[in-house]
Amino acid sequence: MAGDYPEGRGRVRVEAADIEIEGVSIAGHESFYKLPGFRTLLEFGRAPEDVVGYATVCVTHGHLDHMAGLAHHASRRRLAGLPGARVFVPGEAVPHVEQWVEAAERLEQIEYGVEVVPAAPGDRIRLRNDLELTVLPGRHRVPTVGYLFSEVRQKLRDEFIGRPGEEIAALRARGVAVTRREEIPLLAYPGDCGDEIFEACPELFDARVLLLECSFLLPEDVDRAREYAHIHLGDILARADLFRNEAVVLTHFSQRYRPEEIRAALAAIPEPLSRRIIPFLPPL
Ligand SMILES: [Zn+2]
Ligand SMILES: [Zn+2]
Repeated sequence: MAGDYPEGRGRVRVEAADIEIEGVSIAGHESFYKLPGFRTLLEFGRAPEDVVGYATVCVTHGHLDHMAGLAHHASRRRLAGLPGARVFVPGEAVPHVEQWVEAAERLEQIEYGVEVVPAAPGDRIRLRNDLELTVLPGRHRVPTVGYLFSEVRQKLRDEFIGRPGEEIAALRARGVAVTRREEIPLLAYPGDCGDEIFEACPELFDARVLLLECSFLLPEDVDRAREYAHIHLGDILARADLFRNEAVVLTHFSQRYRPEEIRAALAAIPEPLSRRIIPFLPPL
């Protein structure tokens, strides 16, 4: 162990297609990802101090390696005088999360003001004028959802391209729809998942960045991956030509592997996919 984490694991910061992702992800131990560009936290993990400032948190499922820090996060925000966070969780998990928050509030005899928001596949949430969150389906052992962040732009319709500005303005004033909405899928994250996720959620293949768990790597762990509904490296190899992403960040590796074993196993990924793979591991 190195401090709180197994040797060679722990805090990671990567830049994937210009999107910064910082956090920790070790299967069964702790997973959270700070997305500073989206001002959003994916999962709580155990909620270290530097995630307390995040007021929007997207949780994929109730396993405590992803969620243990929820009450701590709420309490720390309250102590810091910050408003309660907005926390997205799968709809089925909402009553349990609310009971947990209420129990912690009674223990501390304070109110956190946490807003627990049920998330169901297909839900869309406007995070900013130019940024939208879409809830994706999940496939895991407990109720799970995924999340997609998309940039939203208003583009001039083709028929108006090259027309003078005054003419466009006049058309707009007359109520003509001169623009069309364009969505660019920036980052998709299905949370923990079995390989059925690829059929359930083909959107994963088209996001600029795919943050994808790959808990298991070695041939002897295929059954373990199936039993616990996790991705095995073989599931990715079998679909290597389907990933149209600019970057595929592989994460949530089991703590049974040493970092050098992880890197050696990932070397089996063929070109051209291998060039776009970023392992979510501390630098060598
Ligand atoms: Zn997990
Ligand atoms: Zn899980």
